[in-house]
Amino acid sequence: MVSSSSHASLYKIWASKNRWSEELRCKCDEPATFSISITDENPGRKFRGCPNFKDKYKKCDFFLWLDPPLPNSHYKEIMCNLYRDLEREKDVKMLLKVFVVLMVLLLLFVVVLVMMMNKLLDERI
Ligand SMILES: [Zn+2]
Repeated sequence: MVSSSSHASLYKIWASKNRWSEELRCKCDEPATFSISITDENPGRKFRGCPNFKDKYKKCDFFLWLDPPLPNSHYKEIMCNLYRDLEREKDVKMLLKVFVVLMVLLLLFVVVLVMMMNKLLDERI
């Protein structure tokens, strides 16, 4: 008899060799891209799909979920909130970077201003 945990580890081995590998190709014979869904219906769910899915002439509809669906709306809501928190964190980090760049520019401006004032004072003496 095979336990459920060994089923899980067998699935991981199979997934690592098949679904997760770069060798997975779509109907266009291109490597299927790896993505993570950010929709409200499937938040955080990993999938692979055709890199040309926006190209209506190629008509490739290759798509494969890598994770099972979330069991209910409670988990979906938790994942959506986590993604929103991550987005807010990214926004805060970006604002901090802009703030640091502005502070460095301000410091440079003050240094140049002080140097110019010193030069002017030296010329007057
Ligand atoms: Zn394709």
